[in-house]
Parts: sequence; structure tokens; C-alpha cells
Amino acid sequence: MIKAENLTKAFGLKLAVNDVSFSVERGEVLGFLGPNGAGKSTTMRMITGFIAPSGGKVSVGGYDVTTDPIPVKRLIGYLPESAPVYVDMTVRSFLGFCAELSGLRGDDRKKAVNRVVEMCFLESVLYQSVDTLSKGYRHRTCFAQAIIHDPDVLVLDEPTDGLDPNQKHEIRGLIRRMGERKAIIFSTHILEEVEAVCSRAIIIDRGQIVANGTPQELKRKSEFGGAVLLAVRGV
Ligand code: ADP
Ligand code: MG
Repeated sequence: MIKAENLTKAFGLKLAVNDVSFSVERGEVLGFLGPNGAGKSTTMRMITGFIAPSGGKVSVGGYDVTTDPIPVKRLIGYLPESAPVYVDMTVRSFLGFCAELSGLRGDDRKKAVNRVVEMCFLESVLYQSVDTLSKGYRHRTCFAQAIIHDPDVLVLDEPTDGLDPNQKHEIRGLIRRMGERKAIIFSTHILEEVEAVCSRAIIIDRGQIVANGTPQELKRKSEFGGAVLLAVRGV
């Protein structure tokens, strides 16, 4: 569902992403693990079409992201890094509005809202203004917004950042459940998170992939002195 081939992005002289290739199939959750500044967000912005690669290419569902952006937008749900929503609308009207923006009308719109409300456990705050939500509920509302059009592909940029352990646990559960039917890439700098959620992970550092494998394989490598992993873990 996602195929990145030799993706490269330069900002001036700086190579933020350097020759990165990977793919994600349906039913897979790929962890994208790396320290701050490694190039995770830049890669995700190229997958979603928000920025153009300087080199290489990326396709989603067989569509080239650069030349075929419209079907790609329909296929992708994107949760950008630290993107809190502040809006003076109830959760229900906000999600209804998002559904409408995705082209859903009438019954389809209602069904879509009910589906994400149930998935993201938002029943108890449906009639509360988004502005007054606690951090955890705000986060889940962002999540609900990202999946309102039931996308086949999810691009989640550090979706548990800033959450407390309980809230992290909830979001991880959500990702795992959705991963059964979708292709998901999600970035984090926490190795344990990759173990809890992902079928496979790649480690990126200074714009380049330095390791990839199952979480168990990566953990084993780190135990045998993988310096990058130690850096990722903040040691
Ligand atoms: P991560 O998400 O892994 O923390 P980023 O993809 O945000 O890393 O950043 C990778 C590198 O690219 C960093 O050194 C960052 O400073 C640089 N960078 C990211 N976006 C821009 C930009 N718009 N202009 C210049 N440099 C950027
Ligand atoms: Mg980032």
C-alpha cells in the first residue's frame, strides 16, 4: 500500500532524508523509529504529499503521490506531529464537519461519525466543545478526524507524544486494532512502543535507514551494542 523508493529530501545543503526505501502492506504496522531530527516527519510529509521529494518516489495504493495527489488523499489518513485541534464546536459537529469535508453526506456522514466515535471512545464528550477537552480526549478527537473517511493507509507522526501512560496505552490499542485492516506507518522515538504495536520496524538516523526487522530482532541488535538504538532510547 505504501512504497517508498530511494526517497530523498534536501533543505538547502542539509539532507534531511537520504535514499530511504521501504514498503508497507495492508495488515501491517510499520514502526518508524529514530531520535529527534532523524527525518521521520519529513518522510511522512513526503508520503502524504505535503512536500515534494528532491529525489526518488513514493506511491500509495499504486498511485504516485507527486503526480496523482487526489486519489492518494482519499486513501490516506494523516495525523501530523503535535497537531492539537482548537475549535469552538462540539465533538459531534466537528466530526460531522470533517466527514462532510471528506465528501460524505446524509446517512454515510452519520455512519462515519458514529464509527469513529465508537472506535476512539468519544461517547462521553460528544456534546462538549472541542476547545474544552482534556489532552487525552483532544488527542482521540484528532485521531477520529484522521480516520473519518475510513482510509486504507494511516500515517501517524508520533501519535503518543505528550500523553500519559494510560493515554499512550489506549492509542497503542487503537493502532493495533486498526492495523489488522489497514497499512499503517507510525513514528516514535520509543523502542518499547514499537514492540507493543508493530509487526516490523525501521530505524532511521540522520536521514538514513540504519536497521530494520521485527521488534524482537531490533531489540536483540540493541542488546548487542547497537549504538543507534541506544541513542534512540536516550541512553
Ligand atoms: P524527526 O521528525 O525525525 O524529528 P524531521 O524530519 O522533522 O525529523 O527533521 C529532519 C531534519 O531536517 C532536521 O535536521 C530538521 O532540522 C530538518 N528540517 C526539517 N524540516 C525542515 C525545513 N522545512 N527546512 C529546513 N530544515 C528542515
Ligand atoms: Mg518529527
